[in-house]
This record gives sequence, C-alpha cells and structure tokens, in this order.
Amino acid sequence: MSKYEFQTEVSQLLNLMIHSLYSNKEIFLRELISNASDALDKLNYLTLTDDKFKNLSYEPRIDIKIDKENNQLIVSDSGIGMNEEDLQKNLGTIAKSGTKSFIENLSGDAKKDSSLIGQFGVGFYAAFMVADKIEVLSKKAGEENAYTWISKGGNDYEIKASEKETHGTQITLHLREDASEFLETYRIKSIVEKYSNHIPFPIFLESEEEKDGKKEKVTEQINKASALWRLSKSQISDEEYKDFYKTISHDSEDPLLYIHTKAEGTLEYTTLFYIPKTAPFDLFRVDYQSGIKLYVKRVFISDDDKELLPTYLRFVRGIVDVEDLPLNVSREILQQNVILSKVKKASVKKILTELKKLKEKDFDKYLEFYNQFGKVLKEGIMSEFEHKDLLLDLLLFKSTKSDKLVDFKTYVEGMKEDQKEIFYITGEDANMLKNSPLLESFLDKDIEVLLMDDEVDTIVVPNIHQYKEKPLKAVNSADIQESDEEKLKADEEKFAEVLVKMKESLKDEVKDVKVTSRLKSSPAVLVYDKDDPDFAMQQMLKQMGQMELPPVKPILEINPDHKIFNTILDKKAFQKIDDVAHTLLDLAKLSEGMKIEDPNAFSKRIYDMMDQTL
Ligand code: ADP
Repeated sequence: MSKYEFQTEVSQLLNLMIHSLYSNKEIFLRELISNASDALDKLNYLTLTDDKFKNLSYEPRIDIKIDKENNQLIVSDSGIGMNEEDLQKNLGTIAKSGTKSFIENLSGDAKKDSSLIGQFGVGFYAAFMVADKIEVLSKKAGEENAYTWISKGGNDYEIKASEKETHGTQITLHLREDASEFLETYRIKSIVEKYSNHIPFPIFLESEEEKDGKKEKVTEQINKASALWRLSKSQISDEEYKDFYKTISHDSEDPLLYIHTKAEGTLEYTTLFYIPKTAPFDLFRVDYQSGIKLYVKRVFISDDDKELLPTYLRFVRGIVDVEDLPLNVSREILQQNVILSKVKKASVKKILTELKKLKEKDFDKYLEFYNQFGKVLKEGIMSEFEHKDLLLDLLLFKSTKSDKLVDFKTYVEGMKEDQKEIFYITGEDANMLKNSPLLESFLDKDIEVLLMDDEVDTIVVPNIHQYKEKPLKAVNSADIQESDEEKLKADEEKFAEVLVKMKESLKDEVKDVKVTSRLKSSPAVLVYDKDDPDFAMQQMLKQMGQMELPPVKPILEINPDHKIFNTILDKKAFQKIDDVAHTLLDLAKLSEGMKIEDPNAFSKRIYDMMDQTL
C-alpha cells in the first residue's frame, strides 16, 4: 500500500466541496455516470479499432447498488478501467487547464461560487460532497492487475493492489450522515432519469425491497439508454433536451438554445448543438476545452477535436454523429477529412442561421447571448469567408442615433439617400466617442455613426471592409469625402500661408496640416492616412506586445470657419502662430484621449494666453 498527496488544487477543491459551496449535491451521480459512460465509450472504440482489444468482452453497462445496511452507494461500469498510474494521474491531479486561476478567482461568496463551480465541472471530486470516504476499485482492460484507490478527502489518498475479476471500475461511496437520501430508490431513479436518461448505455439499479415482510433484491434498468440525439425531434421534450445538455456539458444552468439537425441523402449525419447561457470559464484561454463530442455511427471517437467547429464558435456544446466514416479513422486523418469538413461547413451555417432567427424573433434573448459571446463571434470576421454575410448580420453596435444596439441592416435602412458608406468610429469608451469632434459634421448632417468601443473592434472592424456592398469607413480617415469641394479650394487659398507656417511648426509631429469641412464647432482634429493605423489601433498593437511600431504621424485638419482662424489672419496675431499651432495640436490630442508630448510647455502656453486675454 502506498500513500500519496493530492495536488494542491485538488485539496483546495475538495475543501470547497466539503464545505458545500455547491448547493446542488445530487449532481455527483451525474458526474460518476458520465465518467462511466466515457469509460465505456473509450473501450468500445478500442474493441472496434485495435486488434489487441478485439477479443475482449464488451458488455457495456453501468450498475448502481444501494447498500442501506452499510450506508454505501456503489457505482460500477464495465468500461476501460484504470491501472495504478491512471489512478494517480486521474484521481490525484486535475488536468483541466486553468484550474489554478479558477480556484484563485473564487470569491468566497457561496452563491456566486457555486454557479462558477457548476460551469467548471468538478467531475469525480463532486462525490466528496456526499461521501466521507471513497474507494475506487479498478482493472484496466487488457491488463492483469487491479488496484484500489482510497481517500477520505483532505490532503492524501492511498493505492493498494487488489483483486477484481473483470475490467472496469467500481466506486464505493461511504455516505455522509446528511446524505442518506441517496440510499432511497426513488431518489436515485429520479436523478438518473433527470440527467442520465439518454446516455447510450443501460443503467441498472440494485436495491432491496420489502415483500411480505421479507427483504428481496431487485435489479431493474432505470434509464432509456437511447442516444438522445438519434431520436427524432418529436420524440424529445424540451425538458429532455435541457437535461441532456447538463449531462454533456456539466453546466448547472439550462442552455440558451439548442439546435438539432438530422441530415439525410448524400451525406448522413446528426448534430445536436447547444448554446450555453453563461460563457464557459476557459472561453478566452488558448488551451480552452472543446465542447463537441464526435461520434461515428453512435460510437464515441473524441471530445478534444477543436476542428469540428471554427474557433469563433468555441462556446458551442454538443454532439456530431457521422454515418459515413470508418470507425478506425485515425485522429490525424480526421482533421483533413472531407466528410467532416462538409459537416463543419453545414453546421456553421446552421448555427449562424439559428442565431439570426433568434435575433429576429426574440431580441432580448439574443442580447443575452450577445453579451456573453459577441466578442468571440467578432473573431470570426478574420476567418469566416464562406458565411461572412450571415456572421455580419449577427453583430451589434452602439450608435449615435440609438440608445439600443443596432445591426448593419438597421444602419443601412436608415442611410441618407446620397450616403454611400457606413461610418464608424473606434475607441475606448462610447461616451467619449460620442463627443469626438470627428462626429460634428455627421451630427450636423444627421448621418448615423456606429460607435465601436469593444477592445477587439479596433483590430477586427477594419477587416469587415463592406456590408452588402456598402463600404465601411472610419470617420478619422483622411480620405473622407468633403462636402463642398469649391469652398474647400477657396479656403485652401485663403489660409495658404497659415497652413505653411503651421506645417513648419509641427513638422516633427504631424504628417500634414489641411483645411477641412468636417468640423463645426471645434477648431481642429486629428485624422489618419488611409493605410495608417489610427490611435486606437496603435494602442491595441502596443498592448498586444506587437513589435515596436515606428511612430505613425497623424494629419491635423483645421476648421476654416472657426473664429481662431479668422483672427489669425490678422498681422499681429499671425506672429503667435507657432504657439497656436502647438496648442491646437495638443488640444486635438486630448480630445482623442491621447497623451501630449510636453505637458509643461502646454500649460505655459495656456497660462500666457490667459494672461493676455484677461
Ligand atoms: P473529467 O471527467 O472531467 O475528465 P473527472 O475528475 O471526473 O474529470 O475524472 C478524471 C479522469 O479520471 C477522467 O478523465 C478519466 O480519465 C478518469 N476516470 C474517472 N472515472 C472513471 C471511470 N469510471 N473509468 C475510467 N476512468 C475514469
């Protein structure tokens, strides 16, 4: 017999479990059955694909035994089993990525934490909520020796050599005093019916019943064991769809949406996709866990294949079951498989279409979805070419004209008759953007501008290029159509000398100084050449640790109708043009949220001007 210490994260998690952060204790059984079902899946796959396992008996079943006398609940399966090394690795550590940061992020607020834990999925360890001692007796398929793993929770566990006739795993829970409800037949039956009715293997319950004063052992199958996704839609109730989601996702909440598709004809497959209500905790981790299980003709193949859906749909959970693949297709080949790539394409289209329908039918519910996953969806702009229009139709933005989020369709419908482009502005905060001088002429002409203040917008939005043949245009782009070319020409001449002087003063800081008609009340504004990254984009690239960019100089545009410029034509005032140029540039920078180069020089110029005016 050998003693081992749990990995620190396991001890921490066990501690949380035992102090019952998790209010919903019954899910321990769902987790154990789900593990048993996975173990059967794995063995099934091996017996069908690996010669070494061909002759092994594969009689898939899960057994639950209630032993009232000894206060025990025993869950066993005839699956792949675990050897000594597996027991240590699987039941002594948590392999799940992000566990550490997850545990550190728990707040100590029981209610909040319990829903977090629900999403995290604590698996096997959930059993410590109801048991103060757990024994796992297991024999790995194809191996000689059996082992028992024993723990009372806390910081350590033991493993000892044991005897077991057949391969598989038997888990004995020594129930806590306050968990005696799980010795009741009706209780076990109702939990299994709720969470595990449609796992593809039969679950048997052995219990004792009193008959004519005599105790009698009864064994009965207590689940339907029909792979839910294989049934037709009319055979499945809303409740059953939702409960099945909880079995495969370990989520404690209902899903927001489910999408069940059966394709027949040249390509036969079934998919059942779920959109969760709340984002999974690892959504923004590079090593996020895929939520899609791949089956071939009902045989489980893998649940870690991130190729089944594009990364921008990584929040989707569910099942893909394909008919026309050989079972022994290797995982490497899977990735380039033509059939799977067709299924993927069709699935993306289906999911996006259903989301679009939801948006049209129930906007509030769609908003719930969008608040959780809108950011991820936007990533698709960079990679989704096939269904780009469909994806663009799902995006929502803040706008100068509406307090609600709007989509491109609504924007285009509200465009002015002679308006050719979709205008947007990007930056950190919609409220600040709303007051940007860049919007003055748009507000004046009653043209709507989309306010893009999501972090990813700066990177992603310039890649949209167009929506239904309407080009997207940033309002801080230097090549925005001027409204009155003739007046502009006249102003250019009128201010020729001013422009030359200002350019000279600011030559180290700006690319050019020009007159513009885009301003109404502000004297000046900064814009960017067509192919230059704007300020927000430069910030973003910097944050992402992208290469040291050579500084990109903006263009300073001035408002020829502003009082300052009429005054400056005066000879005496013109002498101060250098100060005026620098001050205008600094003020334009401030209104964009940029830093100014030399705050002291700036203050001094302002004080001097105050002094002169007072
Ligand atoms: P998860 O199931 O999310 O991976 P668990 O903590 O529930 O996390 O289980 C950890 C690992 O232990 C599983 O991934 C599996 O490899 C192994 N395991 C658990 N239960 C069984 C079982 N009944 N048969 C075989 N392996 C099991």
